[in-house]
Amino acid sequence: MTDVSTDGVRATRASNDVTGLSAAELAEKIASRELSSVEVTRAHLDRIAEIDGELGAFLHVGGDEALAAAEAADAAVAAGEAPSALTGVPLALKDAFTTTDAPTTCGSRMLEGWMSPYDATVTARLRAAGIPILGKTNMDEFAMGSSTENSAYQVTRNPWDTTRIPGGSGGGSAAALASHQAPLAIGTDTGGSIRQPAAVTATVGVKPTYGTVSRYGLIACASSLDQGGPCGRTVLDTALLHEVIAGHDARDATSVSAAVPDVVAAARAGAGGDLSGVRIGVVSQLQGEGYQDGVLASFREACDTLTGLGATIVEVDCPHFTYALGAYYLILPSEVSSNLARFDAMRYGLRVGDDGTHSADEVMALTRAAGFGPEVKRRIMIGTYALSSGYYDAYYGQAQKVRTLIARDFAAAYEQVDVLISPTTPTTAFHLGEKVDDPLSMYLFDLCTLPVNLAGTAAMSVPSGVDPADGMPVGLQIMAPALADDRLYRVGAAYEAARGPIG
Ligand code: GLN
Repeated sequence: MTDVSTDGVRATRASNDVTGLSAAELAEKIASRELSSVEVTRAHLDRIAEIDGELGAFLHVGGDEALAAAEAADAAVAAGEAPSALTGVPLALKDAFTTTDAPTTCGSRMLEGWMSPYDATVTARLRAAGIPILGKTNMDEFAMGSSTENSAYQVTRNPWDTTRIPGGSGGGSAAALASHQAPLAIGTDTGGSIRQPAAVTATVGVKPTYGTVSRYGLIACASSLDQGGPCGRTVLDTALLHEVIAGHDARDATSVSAAVPDVVAAARAGAGGDLSGVRIGVVSQLQGEGYQDGVLASFREACDTLTGLGATIVEVDCPHFTYALGAYYLILPSEVSSNLARFDAMRYGLRVGDDGTHSADEVMALTRAAGFGPEVKRRIMIGTYALSSGYYDAYYGQAQKVRTLIARDFAAAYEQVDVLISPTTPTTAFHLGEKVDDPLSMYLFDLCTLPVNLAGTAAMSVPSGVDPADGMPVGLQIMAPALADDRLYRVGAAYEAARGPIG
């Protein structure tokens, strides 16, 4: 591990500093009892206490619960019964997943203080793998946003520059990782919410193939697009976490039963650095006008690095990607308008006006007016309109057709190449407040990540450098066909090894 000097809240990575180690290194040291999970967990809790006041990555820190899980992990290791390759390595969980021992808010006032009666499948798998949960991370309300500024609770700052956004909607998880408050994190990716925060914080994030990570207990944003996924600081760490959370779940109706590819083996093989025989396509539609110079320069360098590893690079045309933004911002709001109807003030969450003077309808209206923030309301209105009779065919129906065309573009591309690449975002992280009043320009930040969600395929963002013009990180997006998530890890690990440390 190389040292990266501390500037402000960004990490210290000295080898004697527990929070500077990768998850793979921590796992090894815990397994060999060189370090205990309690020590490791405590070190991260201390770092959270020390710096999160400045960053705002966590909405809730569960110190006692995390330490209890760490003690159990240590006991399992001592008994020779470590349940997973990540036993004892702590993690930060996006507040979109339900937890029985911590509030789940999904970044919304609507669920302030809400305690779930059950754990999400992802939460349960983490617990079963002996992974202590440090706390719940901040996010845009109900995962709608690209900057985490839509959280009803707090702003999260980018550890690289605290005047800038950490990406969204999973900005809390990415900021926690980048500042070494956690060695691993979980995010969700509906249109880019894992990859885009990863790109702007120089961390790694993967949106797995749709249906391979259970949505049971993941609070719904847009169900046909939502997918939980792993976040880490290295490709191998991310693979180790991917292995823990992926797999069939009978409680999720869209869970796929096909076997998840061996992503850990792929990451280890990739680290060997040989990509000869691998065909890589550069998506013509995801570059050029509107992209920051430093982002394009970093992308070109990444192409050279990949070629140097033996890969063949060709340009690939995906003509319908230019309509992805329009289709996404009809399909997503449509699903949101339906999914968020459950927040009716009757069953759980906020209830406003229940004083005996209002009808049930009025209580519902008052509650929804008070409980949802402006972006969520905007999308509920757009979605309700797009689904309304007379407009359904022109908007929602048309968007679904575009979605099919985008999936066909991917299918045609993957006949020619093994993976596709692009920048993860058109620009580096912008300043806090810069786009809050301009939703359209906020939406444009997701230009490169949306097509993958619409097609249900897999993608990774891996750090590719820093734009010298603003000193901010840039991400490389690697995309693969459905159920070929292992390709992301092979190419990502090879690239990461060849690229070397960032910043
Ligand atoms: N930024 C996108 C949106 O606002 C994606 C969100 C996500 O992936 N959850 O919808």
